[in-house]
Amino acid sequence: MLIGLMVVFQTLSAPAQPQPDARIESAPQLLQQIDSIRHHFMHFLGLQYGIPAMAHADSNAAVRIPEGLFLMSSDAYNAFWATTPFVEIDFDGSGRKHRLQTHVAEQLKRAIADLKAAGIPFKIRGADGVFRSYRDAQQIWLSRLQRELSYHRKQRPASDTAAHRLLQTIEELGRQGRYIDQAALIYWQETHLSKPMMFGKLHQGPLYASCAAPGTSHHTLGIAIDLDIATLRHTKSLQIMAKHGFFRCIVSDFAHFAYLGARFGEPQTLQHHNLRWVKHADGAMYLKYDGE
Ligand SMILES: [Zn+2]
Repeated sequence: MLIGLMVVFQTLSAPAQPQPDARIESAPQLLQQIDSIRHHFMHFLGLQYGIPAMAHADSNAAVRIPEGLFLMSSDAYNAFWATTPFVEIDFDGSGRKHRLQTHVAEQLKRAIADLKAAGIPFKIRGADGVFRSYRDAQQIWLSRLQRELSYHRKQRPASDTAAHRLLQTIEELGRQGRYIDQAALIYWQETHLSKPMMFGKLHQGPLYASCAAPGTSHHTLGIAIDLDIATLRHTKSLQIMAKHGFFRCIVSDFAHFAYLGARFGEPQTLQHHNLRWVKHADGAMYLKYDGE
């Protein structure tokens, strides 16, 4: 008995070569649980990105938000835009037209007029600072994923078959166009494994914080705008954007403003929706959602 235990102990404590991560479950097992993995991820992402869902109720459905907040496929994207009123306007005189939902564009035009009256230049950040189609998001996502997958393949020894199978499963979900499942599985392993493979910036942070899966961005819904520093360095620009319903609500995404409706500037609305202002390390104030 004693000898038996010693053998087991010695086997367990023999770290001579890199062992497969004990906590990686097999890929087929994970796929069986993909519905619950996706469910938890979407709930989490909803808390990160989800405040605009309330704009739906707040502005008498003037703004359309898909059920469940995200567009789950390119078909869902096409159906959404086939029935959502939108305009395409050159907002900043750059010669480039940007798509926004009609109601959001009207509010933005008012904000731009107020900015100009206050002597503040209005400048959009980057060529894709307003609208990103599903196809655009897909291209960005797939090239990012390709880079991260090959990085982690090189990092993990061939003997770590569990990690390699997991990477293969992540890649396969992408081939099937199941990007939200892909994002969910990546997030699951980033947060559950003892030695996770991080897909975010510099392979350090989580992927969701630096790259949105196709169908999950406010920009694909036509309700968001990224502002250039030329506008943001004027502190009064924040007040003017808020007056017309645009707020920072994704922490550490400094340039990003989503349309929530002007009532979100009122303390009683914030309280009603379990929202509060938080000051982040980058010095900017963000709306944070506290409740469920
Ligand atoms: Zn943005």
